[in-house]
Amino acid sequence: MSLFSKDPGSVRSKTGFWPNNRGTIIGVSVLAVVILIVPFTASSSLMNIAVFSMIFALPAIGLSLLMGLAGQVSLGQAAFFAIGAYTHAILLQKFEMPGPVAAVGGVVAAMLAALLVGLPMLRLRGHYLALATLGLGFIVMIAVREWEFTGRTTGIYGYGRPEVFGIPIDNNGLFFWFVAPFVLIGLVLALNLTRSRAGRALSAVNDSELAAESLGVNTYALRVKVFTLSAGFAGLGGVFYAYQVQIVSPQVAEFHVSVELLLMVVIGGLGSVWGAIAGAFIVELLSEGLRDLIPAIIPGATGEVQLIGYGLVLILVIILLPGGLYQVVRTSWAAIRRRMGSRPADAGAEADAASEASGAASAPDAPDAPDAPRVPAVSTPMAAGEPILEVIGLTKRYGGVVAVDDVSFTVPAGRIMGLIGPNGAGKTTCFNMITGAISPTTGTVTFLGEEVQGRKPHVGAVRGLTRTFQNLQSFSSTDVVGNVYMGRYRKGRAGIIRGMLGLQGREQYRHEEIARDILDSMRLGDVADLAAGDLPFGRQRMMEVCRALASEPALLLLDEPMAGLSGGERELLAALLRALRDAGLTIVLVEHDVEQVLSLADTVAVLDDGVLIAHGEPEAVRADSAVIVAYLGTDAEEAEHELKELEEHA
Ligand code: ATP
Repeated sequence: MSLFSKDPGSVRSKTGFWPNNRGTIIGVSVLAVVILIVPFTASSSLMNIAVFSMIFALPAIGLSLLMGLAGQVSLGQAAFFAIGAYTHAILLQKFEMPGPVAAVGGVVAAMLAALLVGLPMLRLRGHYLALATLGLGFIVMIAVREWEFTGRTTGIYGYGRPEVFGIPIDNNGLFFWFVAPFVLIGLVLALNLTRSRAGRALSAVNDSELAAESLGVNTYALRVKVFTLSAGFAGLGGVFYAYQVQIVSPQVAEFHVSVELLLMVVIGGLGSVWGAIAGAFIVELLSEGLRDLIPAIIPGATGEVQLIGYGLVLILVIILLPGGLYQVVRTSWAAIRRRMGSRPADAGAEADAASEASGAASAPDAPDAPDAPRVPAVSTPMAAGEPILEVIGLTKRYGGVVAVDDVSFTVPAGRIMGLIGPNGAGKTTCFNMITGAISPTTGTVTFLGEEVQGRKPHVGAVRGLTRTFQNLQSFSSTDVVGNVYMGRYRKGRAGIIRGMLGLQGREQYRHEEIARDILDSMRLGDVADLAAGDLPFGRQRMMEVCRALASEPALLLLDEPMAGLSGGERELLAALLRALRDAGLTIVLVEHDVEQVLSLADTVAVLDDGVLIAHGEPEAVRADSAVIVAYLGTDAEEAEHELKELEEHA
């Protein structure tokens, strides 16, 4: 597993909300009690470590959301930490603002800076984003070192300590209690977010950006928001840091601060918010230890050399414990429960535990005989027969290859259109242009009267244009019902703030119920709580069809949905598609099983070598000589002869 790939169980987007909330309440209560006791029991050096751990826990929580949940790597969180610290100190010292106002100023400044740099930077992905944030860290460090206003190398000092109800927070014990409520609140907000609609969407983006977009998730906007949010956490940490150290110097923006934060998140377990807090304590302890140890090993070594220690720990954790502490706790807990003979409370955890222990998939077999499926709700924004989708002159060129060449067709509402053609004919490319996954070289795509070509997939998806994929695009970090729940994304409204405040319980329940209902209707109810990746290929495909249906589409594009299905599943799916059409849904079906398409579709379009060679009713297409030639790869007369022979043999 690479450093930044996500442990499938880390920020698992659960759908059983209350058990997790109960766990959160117990966990936070225990932590609150520990926080109350620590200042009475800890030595002064330990208390010092505890205070800095609390301070750094805040940016670590933010980074954990950014890296673990959203899968975005930042090597420059120190920049936002420093912006928070400097802004706070400057507002206190130069502008003599009250503490709370200066603190809010610090957080807002960090978030604004993140928003400004995030807008262009978050168009980058993976390593490029990591490098860009690294550069940002250096820019901020050099800026504060060279700028007169920020006190150059001396920094900003001479502002007062915080006071609460007139009581000066002037010792480590009091400061620890001063920071703790913010950490606890930050923890709860972050945990709520991981389980919210927005949090699940972030997690889904991390699993498959294309699938998330196709369900209506504006992936770019969501990434910018979580980046800004994580900077807010970093800025708040910077505010407390400025209060605690009473001097904000360029050291606060140095690279090693970003490395420390990275280490906290990796040691704790990528994506685990609890892990980030534990990681903060461990790294602060480690930092204290290294401060004594490294000069003893390397006489005359400076603080910079401490980075060697961090580097070694980072390498060891990645090699030996890629899931960090979170993985250790999770695996141990699953083992304890197994030993105690109790079944884990949620089947998702059970699936995890089972697959962690044996690596075996435990999904029940696919159904054999089909029953008539129950039909989920569909959206019918147009009267049957009206043109819901119009494709005009659609062309896609890849250098010299013309994948799709001047293709035009209209799909009437409430009908099934089959799109067939030999391998490489351009069917998937056509789908990709219709849904916005790729931009056409020329041509237009009009969906529900609005041109959508060249626009991101979420634009069409929000209006009801949903698709499945030829290659599976499951959300591997969640369970089967979590995948189908994501199909409900366009039907929900709650954003990041409501998610953090935990104000969407009823909405989530409703969507989860619908998701389970759809799974039941497709005979997947028994595997709803298994990890998506534990299902056999065919059932994952069915799950993706369920996910698309959960969005109540107006137009459903299915890219080879029958591939890999058992005979029973094919019949079930065919019956479902007919029932959906009868309920008013418009479907475009790409499928290699030509007989299946001809029996299901109302109209059939045939592509060959990127060109539309036939379009009409199934029987007319079946008899079309150009189609026969395309499929049999011979001349028309010979093809008809061969076809007759084949029919006679059949
Ligand atoms: P299949 O049934 O095998 O999935 P298809 O009909 O879906 O095939 P496409 O995948 O759309 O066909 O491909 C059409 C043509 O475009 C093929 O010749 C393919 O090699 C080419 N093509 C597709 N994507 C690209 C790309 N990104 N770069 C270059 N050529 C491409």
